[in-house]
Amino acid sequence: MAQTPPLNTPRRLPEGELPLAVQNKVGAFLLQPSRKVNFRCRTCDSVRAHPYYEDPGYPGIELLRCADVNLNCGVPVRVDGLRESPNEFVPGSLVLVKKEGIPWPAIVEFSIDDIADYFLQRDWRSPPHAYYITFIGERGPRTGGWYQKMCLKGLHPVDLNVPTHDQTLQNARRLCANYLTPPYCSLRRRFRDLAYACSRVQLPIVPDVPQPERFEEV
Ligand SMILES: [Zn+2]
Repeated sequence: MAQTPPLNTPRRLPEGELPLAVQNKVGAFLLQPSRKVNFRCRTCDSVRAHPYYEDPGYPGIELLRCADVNLNCGVPVRVDGLRESPNEFVPGSLVLVKKEGIPWPAIVEFSIDDIADYFLQRDWRSPPHAYYITFIGERGPRTGGWYQKMCLKGLHPVDLNVPTHDQTLQNARRLCANYLTPPYCSLRRRFRDLAYACSRVQLPIVPDVPQPERFEEV
């Protein structure tokens, strides 16, 4: 009998092998080419590709200006047909999710949009409108669950500086800091390094392509 897991509740993740369909999806995701995030400049209103970041769930992307990413409003957009990226989470997005009341770093493993039929609970047939996240840096077995968007907050480097006496939390933040500061790495790389699903399957080796620093300027 299919059982709907509770939303917004962390659960211990299963130890067993992931279903083959899931393994295939993880592999397919890792083989996708990197995608740029496009943003609309608040000063000149142009839509431009972010020169090095590719996570549309990164907080504040809707507030960006060309100058924030070392671009110049005066330079014409060279690629036609760019569209603003929707501000949503994708596999590899780093987020904060409350765990026992404490905002804890987590990674989005799967979103409803692209690989919604991924599920760690194999007898569950109709996913809710939510993201599957797993917590990062936990001691012992990892936990995760389906969370609604309102329960997730994009992880910003300033969140990593909030004082804490919890050594495990501090370690989790330190781990995430590597992925949120230059040199930026791809979503796939984060996914491969941090996602629970990736720790359960044999993975294709996909090297990160270095990101150009000043993408739109000659
Ligand atoms: Zn601009």
